[in-house]
Amino acid sequence: MSTDKKKSRIKLRPATLVTQAGRAPFDHFGFINPPIYRGSTVLFPTVADLEGLRQPYTYGTKGTPTTRALESAWSEIAGAADTVLVPSGLAAVALALLTATRAGAHALVVDSAYQPTRMFCDGFLARFGVKVDYYDPLIGTGIEALMTPQTTAVLVESPGSQSMEIQDVPAIAEIAHAHGACVIADNTWATPLLFPPHERGCDLSVDAGTKYLSGHADLLMGLVSANAAWAKRLRTTFNAFAIGSSPDDAALALRGLRTMTLRLREQERAALDIAQWLERRPEVARVLHPALATHPGHALWKRDFSGASGVFSVILKPFSKQAVAAFVDGLELFGIGYSWGGYESLVLPFDCETYRTATRWAPEGPALRFSIGLEDTADLKEDLETGLARLIGG
Ligand SMILES: *Cc1c(COP(=O)(O)O)cnc(C)c1O
Repeated sequence: MSTDKKKSRIKLRPATLVTQAGRAPFDHFGFINPPIYRGSTVLFPTVADLEGLRQPYTYGTKGTPTTRALESAWSEIAGAADTVLVPSGLAAVALALLTATRAGAHALVVDSAYQPTRMFCDGFLARFGVKVDYYDPLIGTGIEALMTPQTTAVLVESPGSQSMEIQDVPAIAEIAHAHGACVIADNTWATPLLFPPHERGCDLSVDAGTKYLSGHADLLMGLVSANAAWAKRLRTTFNAFAIGSSPDDAALALRGLRTMTLRLREQERAALDIAQWLERRPEVARVLHPALATHPGHALWKRDFSGASGVFSVILKPFSKQAVAAFVDGLELFGIGYSWGGYESLVLPFDCETYRTATRWAPEGPALRFSIGLEDTADLKEDLETGLARLIGG
């Protein structure tokens, strides 16, 4: 821990860690939060210092005390050896994949991955001679059959973007490691607070800080954490691009971090409340939320996660596109938009069938993804209730 006090004798729990990690007040005249260090050039007192590699900071692209505060806090929370910050979640996915692949390599990516991750694989990695195959999110130990001598990376994302499948990450990691491949997790839904990625066998873990770390829809950031085996390679790839996050953004993210446990707990409670309410509605065919006993991945979720965040999906009974638009367009409290994890509730119609290649997505009706914010759930239900009436009417 980088606090100025002696190392804590208490093994800090996550809720305490988010308030303690990455702080060193007496390095900054006692101010609780690290100041925003803006800078490119860092001066060296003498030529000997220039050659001595003794300074903790050498140039702006390599980091500042502000960005390092967030990096060290995140490493501690994620149980990682190192963390790097980049300007978006997608940049973090790209950096992780570039760390674990090379020309001629083969990567296995889950079919339910965040769609822009697929676009990076197919449109960019392929150009540099990396072959990418997609696999069934429910494959489990069956991943063995897809491993080749060239497989250097296996990307997991659990639950899957939009479709919410839970993967058997420890089983997949064990097989990937037996073949010498790097396991990359996109851990944005759970964050390290609800799924400790490195403890579960992942070498590199990606988090779109844009979502729950920010929590206020006012920040774009990506974080990649690495275990000891991959920390050096991650840092080397990061330095090759010099695409760090700004100190201003790091300070904003640190502010978000301090309330992250609190927000996640409330968003878990509220989302589960709304999900259960929706599950009882006659207009709804299925609710895809891993904390519901009806979810096919519920047992795995219970085994590997310590909680749920506020994002889940719903499959409606067969309704027309116009009826769904009438439902969604008329909602007062749910914004229609990309991203999630903020204090405001969001809803987004989606159709995975347009991009999946390894598995079929054939739901019984239109699908919607919800991100539940920090509003009173009674108000959200009232809004949804009126909306569902429009669905029937439309
Ligand atoms: C949003 C998201 C990203 C990308 O984050 P941005 O900061 O928006 O680029 C990556 N992975 C998942 C699972 C996401 O939901």
